[in-house]
Amino acid sequence: EVRVRFAPSPTGMFHVGGARSALFNWAVAEQTGGRFVLRIEDTDAARNRPEWTEGIISALSWIGIDSSSPLFEGPYFQSSYADQHRETAARLHKEGRAYHCTCTRDDVKARTGSEHKGYDGHCRDRGLTEGALRFRTPDTGVTVVEDLVRGTVEFPNDAMEDFVISRADGSPLFVLANVVDDVEMRITEVVRAEEHLSNTPKQQLLWEALGHTPPVWAHVPVIVNEKRQKLSKRRDKVALESYRDEGYLAEAMVNYLMLLGWGPGDDREIMPWSEMAPLFDLRNVNLSSAFFDEKKLRAFNGEYIRKLTLDEFVERCDPFLDPAWDRATFQKVAELAQTRVAVLSEIAPNVDFLFLDEPVHDQQSWDKAMKTSAQEILTGYAARLATADWNPEALKTALEEVGAEHGLKLGKAQAPVRVAITGRTVGLPLFESIEVLGREKSIERLNAALA
Ligand code: GLU
Repeated sequence: EVRVRFAPSPTGMFHVGGARSALFNWAVAEQTGGRFVLRIEDTDAARNRPEWTEGIISALSWIGIDSSSPLFEGPYFQSSYADQHRETAARLHKEGRAYHCTCTRDDVKARTGSEHKGYDGHCRDRGLTEGALRFRTPDTGVTVVEDLVRGTVEFPNDAMEDFVISRADGSPLFVLANVVDDVEMRITEVVRAEEHLSNTPKQQLLWEALGHTPPVWAHVPVIVNEKRQKLSKRRDKVALESYRDEGYLAEAMVNYLMLLGWGPGDDREIMPWSEMAPLFDLRNVNLSSAFFDEKKLRAFNGEYIRKLTLDEFVERCDPFLDPAWDRATFQKVAELAQTRVAVLSEIAPNVDFLFLDEPVHDQQSWDKAMKTSAQEILTGYAARLATADWNPEALKTALEEVGAEHGLKLGKAQAPVRVAITGRTVGLPLFESIEVLGREKSIERLNAALA
């Protein structure tokens, strides 16, 4: 049975890179009918918060990795495996695979003359009974890591120091706890971020020392911003939650994330999960870093929005609209809005004029629009609206005529009317907007703009 895992540390908002790793794992589980294990690596008590764990679980469910699926197992919490971590460290010590060490960083530096040479093996054969535990790495040969993405990667053992597996107080380090849990959870494939590749030879030695066949490894490329810098939560918008709250659709997000470092092998990009997951293959994941292009994601999202049925669209918009706004009125402009927005949070500013007593308007747009002959246009059009047939075509003809009387083309004549009606210089098609707003309110707004 194939068993993959996703092992986030709950130390912040859920990162899009984590979401991508989770999806890659999920695709493997789906293809193989295996298991996707969620393990929360919550051993850094100072940096963990329960709400981050909640956030991870809800964000995973949003992108379709749902804990109610039969493929899903967990969540397990690393903190509840503390006994196993300690027992394993003790066992490695007893079997002579690890030894105690009391050297400080300064001691090592004083002996080796460098910060960077790594540990010199000073305590290897001192038989100490306390201090940190170091794993005794082989002095010769190479550790060969078979990685589905990177192929065979060789790590010369003489360059690998005797690394620490637990601290003097007995608490385990990441390299150890992560392996003990993977062993315990019978993980067969480890698909994770490239930044962990340097841990892999050490972890593989631990697997072997514990008498288990190491898993198949797959290290997926880093994700970078437009400056080719690794995405960071301090600098970039990385939280999956913020995309969700802005009105990105889960389907678009999933589609986009899957393409960060992988592609179906043809020119197709817009592809639902159900078609993409069966094609996914770790062996086709790129080695080079993947550019997280927010513009492209937006474009994807726009396409996914346009693929929704009108009813689905209206339903998806609901959380992004003021609860007080009449939904029947929204329904009348929903189709127009659906063709125009890239993210759902853009809907409200496009339709708010229908629901507010006075349109929101910014002075700059107002001043810009209320220039040449604006007064005459607004007066003339208000008069026409009183008797015009109430459909977009007739409303347009009426404005064309008023414009012509003042030597203005429709484009120019529209500007003050649009600002008076909607408060904004861009938005939904004007005459449909007027139609939905209604005769009385429209005339009222033109008059208000004149006052
Ligand atoms: N908690 C580690 C992380 O979030 C897990 C690494 C792994 O997948 O092995 O980076």
